[in-house]
Amino acid sequence: MNKCLELLNQLPMVKKITEDIYLLSIPVPFGMVQANCYLMRGTNGITVIDTGVYSKEGMDIWNRIMGMGIAIEKVVLTHYHIDHLGLARWFQEKHGVPVFISSVGNREIKRRQKKGYADYVISLFKQHGCKDFSPLVTEYDSYIYDFEPDGIFEDGQSVRLGDEIYEALWTPGHSADHFCFYHPVQQIMIVGDLVLDKIAPIVLIESHHDVNPLREYFISFEKVAKHSVSIALPGHGNVIENVYKRMEEIRLGHRHRLEEMTAAIKDEAKTSLTVSEEIYGKGKALKSSTHLMATITRFIYLESIGKVKSQIIDGALFYSLVE
Ligand SMILES: [Zn+2]
Repeated sequence: MNKCLELLNQLPMVKKITEDIYLLSIPVPFGMVQANCYLMRGTNGITVIDTGVYSKEGMDIWNRIMGMGIAIEKVVLTHYHIDHLGLARWFQEKHGVPVFISSVGNREIKRRQKKGYADYVISLFKQHGCKDFSPLVTEYDSYIYDFEPDGIFEDGQSVRLGDEIYEALWTPGHSADHFCFYHPVQQIMIVGDLVLDKIAPIVLIESHHDVNPLREYFISFEKVAKHSVSIALPGHGNVIENVYKRMEEIRLGHRHRLEEMTAAIKDEAKTSLTVSEEIYGKGKALKSSTHLMATITRFIYLESIGKVKSQIIDGALFYSLVE
């Protein structure tokens, strides 16, 4: 049945990575331009890694693939963000395809099913100097997260993707539930949004579970670095040949931002909002809320390593350098 996989070569949005792995690029209507899904060949049908965003274009692409006679055995998710999980419920509901997510990911989708899930972020923004924040809620948010996964995996567990056995590696930071999948013999690592080739993945606090995401992100890099990886398959953009070099570049980019932030508070204590606007400018609402969140996340990291300290003045947190 999955001899049909070669048919995928006819599709412009598909790229063959190995004999058994194909990359499918699905357009994303916001933020990132496209998201990568991976199709892993298997006797019982392909395993799909990430689904792309919930969109008509995405459904059309998947319908076309299934229309070629390609059977889908299951969907496995790297993390719960909408550009990766978006069509999971659609696969389950419309096509009877089972969906697998990590136990932390399951917690995150349960959290997103609740009304007021963004209250924590609103109060966090208030605490950091931004009083008029209203989070972006897409109209399909309440649809895509409202499902029960068919299977759960944990850190260190073996997961069969196609016909091959991979190790599930919990790599939080980009999101609390982020997972990579590693094949020790082929030295393939599916890295999701932990490492991207051209841009640095965002590292943001998303809920009260996220204590210090940037620290976790750096620890996840160390975890990946312990493995022999000859090819890394990211959630966006091109395949990465030297994941170690790319992680180092991203780490240096963060160090540069951290230095910029400590320089910004050299002479006086400031809120995250002030520092964010000084570094990034004011920008559009979505962009500046991402920038503010990145700045808050970095100050939390800087405080955890003893570089800065915070004090509450008039209900807002002000950061200053530790002498
Ligand atoms: Zn993504």
